[in-house]
Amino acid sequence: MRQPDAPRYEDVYTHLFRQPQPQRIQIGSSQADILQPARGFLEGFDLTMQTQVGCPAGCFFCYVPAGRMLTPSDLRGSRGERWGFEVRRKRDVHKKLRYHLERGHLAGKTIYWSGVTDPYATPAQETRGIWGLLNAAPAEQRPRRIVIQTRFRPDRDTEAIAQYSQATTAADGGPAVVVSASIGTDQDEFIRAWERAAPSFGQRMDAIRRLREAGVFVVPTLSPFGFWGDLSGTLEAFRSWSIPFITVLFFKRNTPSSNTPPRFLTYLERHYPTLLDPHWQAEQLHRMRQAYGRSRVLPGKVGFTALTTPHQVM
Ligand code: SF4
Repeated sequence: MRQPDAPRYEDVYTHLFRQPQPQRIQIGSSQADILQPARGFLEGFDLTMQTQVGCPAGCFFCYVPAGRMLTPSDLRGSRGERWGFEVRRKRDVHKKLRYHLERGHLAGKTIYWSGVTDPYATPAQETRGIWGLLNAAPAEQRPRRIVIQTRFRPDRDTEAIAQYSQATTAADGGPAVVVSASIGTDQDEFIRAWERAAPSFGQRMDAIRRLREAGVFVVPTLSPFGFWGDLSGTLEAFRSWSIPFITVLFFKRNTPSSNTPPRFLTYLERHYPTLLDPHWQAEQLHRMRQAYGRSRVLPGKVGFTALTTPHQVM
């Protein structure tokens, strides 16, 4: 079936906000801490970790700018129009992490990294330093589990992540690190149109493959579920990389948390209503389950919760 044509990011931006998109991304700094207690829909996690405020990916479907408590209003703009165009990097990230590790604040905890900004839309030296500290930490200071939520490229730290995963024993017998790798479509034109700065489909698949080859536990997260040219081929690739299960999130409206922002929902209703159609969504889920196995395709909250104890899914 021919997929609908994708527009350009700047055109969607103008359509949503009735103004041209900002010309550049403003980079500032923040004194805020990097750890917060996990609340709301993050139940099952103990802590969240963020090393920056704001996210340079600027995805139109991102729920963060739509949640009043999730990010400062001056950073996202009153209508979400500044989201993706201002980032405040937290100061002394490594010093703060060392402080928390040494005081045992992370010990035995399940950490979601991150939920309100992409942990890998950050300078490489920052994440490299984080893994350096984690790898140097004694066993009793280490978290039980770190779940990396990203649509960028954690494979730049493959060796350090694999080293940490292999050397860390989680008390519940599950993996010490889980990479939840978000991919919503294999159509790069839609990625360029809706996720301004995120990597292409091919780059994300490369990242998953490299991490799996190094033995890292990866859960591909088909989110938000868009149009696919070759969904079966993608599932086949996941199978060949021995990926135990995948999770799926459709565009969300009227759910208790992390809904797609209303402006983008209105845009989808007008231009791509199929993506919001419950019958179409059920059909896609059925198709995926037939191809990958019923218990290995976890939708919505079930899939999200499974990230906290992924070994229990198998
Ligand atoms: S990468 Fe994630 S956090 Fe960043 S804008 Fe996109 S959906 Fe939001």
